[in-house]
Amino acid sequence: MARIYDSQRRVLVTGGAGFLGSHLVDRLLAQGNEVVCVDNLFTGSKRNLYHLVSHPRFEFIRHDVTFPLYVEVDEIYNLACPASPIHYQHDPVATTKTSVHGAINMLGLAKRLKCKILQASTSEVYGDPDVHPQTEDYWGNVNPIGTRSCYDEGKRCAETLFFDYHRQHGLEIKVARIFNTYGPRMHPADGRVVSNFIMQALRGEPITIYGEGQQTRSFCYVDDLIDGLMRLMASPAEFTGPVNLGNPAEFTMRQLAEKVLEMTGSKSEIAFRPLPPDDPKQRRPDIKLAASALGWAPNVPLAEGLRPTIDYFASVHAAA
Ligand code: NAD
Ligand code: UDP
Ligand code: UDP
Repeated sequence: MARIYDSQRRVLVTGGAGFLGSHLVDRLLAQGNEVVCVDNLFTGSKRNLYHLVSHPRFEFIRHDVTFPLYVEVDEIYNLACPASPIHYQHDPVATTKTSVHGAINMLGLAKRLKCKILQASTSEVYGDPDVHPQTEDYWGNVNPIGTRSCYDEGKRCAETLFFDYHRQHGLEIKVARIFNTYGPRMHPADGRVVSNFIMQALRGEPITIYGEGQQTRSFCYVDDLIDGLMRLMASPAEFTGPVNLGNPAEFTMRQLAEKVLEMTGSKSEIAFRPLPPDDPKQRRPDIKLAASALGWAPNVPLAEGLRPTIDYFASVHAAA
């Protein structure tokens, strides 16, 4: 049943105890919304939400999105899914279930409520891309049977489901393809490159570069990314995406390591380790569509966003 009994918007954020989700929850509350956060705490943590425990417009439900969910909300952001390679490869079948069954359940919920729903998709749908920078009309180069496939193909199937619910049931959908994003509240042990390099630098351990460090990524600061997601949700009904959200400034992993060493003042050495299978060689978003359709572009350069990120990891390191 659609909610008609009060004027405050109630927003569901799945994966709201995670890195991106918890920042999104903060921003939605700051806008005056009620927020229902659903998370099974697989990779997220209640620590990311401690500051909201007594917030009158915030509610936490511990729940796994692979099971049906019956709540009454006006908008859904579907972020629930482990996002770092070591986390999503830990239980690959569960990762695919989270993406696919999770999408079906959240789309079924949106269909019953006739509410709009946004999917946190990923640049991984482009796989190891041979079009550079990546535009939304590129179909990608994904290995369907490799160790990254549980995540890549799960997210691709979730996009398919979103567009089929849109075509078949007239659902209002929004699909964001998120490129590598970093900032405070990333899990210090998630194995992602930004968290690894900073934690290694702070501990004085070797900085582990996989391969020769010539592969590239483009890093977006979390505040910019959340702004993009919220603009996408507020966009006109006919705009479904998929739309790339990321910062097009591109760096090699070697450059990132050097930047982290410089900014932390660490004496860590650089150590080279084997490149994991199917590791994309290059990645940079083309963000023309986000600029024209959402009026969005990132504002925070890497050197600026690394400062609060390093401060955050320093506080985690000091507390350990
Ligand atoms: P994260 O691991 O910090 O957050 C994911 C959250 O989902 C966690 O709190 C986790 O406990 C929860 N979760 C996982 N499986 C669940 C399930 N079955 N039921 C309920 N909750 C579940 O990762 P993040 O970086 O915040 O990523 C959030 C979303 O954004 C993910 O969907 C991810 O694929 C997408 N994304 C992130 C990035 C990035 O660079 N951070 C890039 C592309 C896409
Ligand atoms: N679903 C849910 N909450 C709801 C409505 C549906 O979790 O409020 C789940 C339900 O488990 C269902 C799935 O969403 O299996 C897909 O729903 P849909 O209506 O598309 O399909 P059907 O019910 O016909 O399988
Ligand atoms: N990487 C690295 N050292 C690390 C962790 C990652 O060189 O300690 C590399 C990894 O091989 C990849 C890039 O950094 O080429 C980004 O990895 P991450 O896991 O952060 O994200 P993704 O590969 O999903 O973009």
